[in-house]
Amino acid sequence: MTFLNPKYQHLVSYVPGEQPKQTTIIKLNTNENPYPPAPGVAAAVQAAAQQLAKYSDADCLQVRLPLAERFDVTIDEVFIGNGSDEVLSLAFQAFMAKGVAFPTITYGFYQVFADMYQVEARVVPLNVDLTLDLDLYRSLTQTIVIANPNAPTGLTLSASALEELVKEDLERLVIIDEAYVDFGGESMVAYTKQYANLLVIGTFSKSRQLAGARLGYAVGDPSLIADLNRLKFAVNPYNVNSLTLAAGAAALADERYFHTQIEKVIQVREWTKHKLTSMGFQVTDSAANFVFIAHPQVSAKVILEKLKADGIYVRWFDHPLIDHYLRVTIGTSAQMDRFVQSVQQILKEAVR
Ligand SMILES: *Cc1c(COP(=O)(O)O)cnc(C)c1O
Repeated sequence: MTFLNPKYQHLVSYVPGEQPKQTTIIKLNTNENPYPPAPGVAAAVQAAAQQLAKYSDADCLQVRLPLAERFDVTIDEVFIGNGSDEVLSLAFQAFMAKGVAFPTITYGFYQVFADMYQVEARVVPLNVDLTLDLDLYRSLTQTIVIANPNAPTGLTLSASALEELVKEDLERLVIIDEAYVDFGGESMVAYTKQYANLLVIGTFSKSRQLAGARLGYAVGDPSLIADLNRLKFAVNPYNVNSLTLAAGAAALADERYFHTQIEKVIQVREWTKHKLTSMGFQVTDSAANFVFIAHPQVSAKVILEKLKADGIYVRWFDHPLIDHYLRVTIGTSAQMDRFVQSVQQILKEAVR
């Protein structure tokens, strides 16, 4: 006996990376930021806690105003969501009447949302070197979703290349997921003024140390934002809680901390790339807060398991095109030092 609507009978859900209870684990498996939130966040959350008897602001102005200012847009060009996953979820519900197209290798949630909302998905192959061939999208009429930098490869496209795609067909919506853009990508936010068929989605989870707070956004033409709001106010008007709004506002108020921590992640990423390359790994040219690596002699599965036994969690994807790769989030320099040492030991044992 099941009470589940038969349309969900075969739904395959998203599988989040493991969140171990032990705090001694070095967690390099879910692309979280290794540093704590900006120093002002804790006090802001504590103050907001005094007001928890009241509903949160359905218009999310506390975050929407400073974000609009930062992006040099008006507030009716900004939507705030409960993590960018919620923003993507609403976008899949709102904008996919003509179907959706995205790369074979990308953020796994796109396929899950397509299944969930029964949107026909066109999966577009990547080049063998895992780069994205925009020519393959040119004639498509479906809404296009591209993560830039892409996950889990970390590879980027230039804003001007993406602009070509956007302007080629103004009747077709292009959604750019910029979850990792602050670590080295080129943002398309500035182009949203010019193109009403461009929606840019971003998150506070990766570059603003707020993964646990659940805060994401979209920037686009006021009509796209109004559509997202139409759906949001039909499902969950208070989609972002007041503690999270306070946390987001405090994070946005500290630009200096934001930039300093990003610089650290980038520096450690480049150090890690260098170390892994010299150990014989193939390392994609990631512009994100993770590296994507494959070793010619030792299987990814073996490295994954041995690292785990050594208390270091990384991410492996069960997909034939990338199952020889591991995605490793950039931690603190001490954590990456430990990671590199552990991998060196694993290789030594495996390749003798
Ligand atoms: C992490 C991630 C998200 C989701 O971020 P949240 O804001 O935490 O929901 C969206 N897109 C990509 C590509 C991501 O890697």
